[in-house]
Amino acid sequence: MEFLKILEYPDPKLRIKATPLKMEEIADNIGLIKNLAYTMYKADGIGLAAAQTGINKRIIVLDVSRKSNKDKLFSLNESDILTANKDLIIAVNPEIIFKEGKTSYEEGCLSIPEFNAEIERFWEIKVKALDILGNEFIVEAKDLLSVAFQHEIDHLDGILFIDKVSQLKRSLYNASLKKKKSASREKEKSYTS
Ligand SMILES: [Zn+2]
Repeated sequence: MEFLKILEYPDPKLRIKATPLKMEEIADNIGLIKNLAYTMYKADGIGLAAAQTGINKRIIVLDVSRKSNKDKLFSLNESDILTANKDLIIAVNPEIIFKEGKTSYEEGCLSIPEFNAEIERFWEIKVKALDILGNEFIVEAKDLLSVAFQHEIDHLDGILFIDKVSQLKRSLYNASLKKKKSASREKEKSYTS
């Protein structure tokens, strides 16, 4: 398995709308799905969309269980990473078919380092998706799982949670990024001189 490079905002590739998989294509993507799960666990995330690694396929992985159990250990073995982790959800072509209520969480994103913001989302959703065998399933997700699903499905549509914060908050973050970038450019210069 491989730790995939996670694209970071403002990489334009994060804005590409991902393409659905045909049922018969899923089997050929098991390696990718394992890499996504591996990368999510290694990066300490509770969700990851293929789109965040520059792969424009509608695949997401989620596991929100560590949020309530900080010491939880996950299997990172290639042979059972997809089966031994009981709270791992793999959703191919996920689609929200029901939404209700409101909730908000302080969200973060592996693609937007050092940025957190409270975002309003639906409290309960139902998601229709395909599993790794190509079978359709429906998940009822509430609370954190619902929020995580909405965040990851947004990634497949090129939407980032930073799009949902106030313009002021976004421009402050953009300014801090620019500063960081020019600082690292200065550093590069000093190495070559
Ligand atoms: Zn994210």
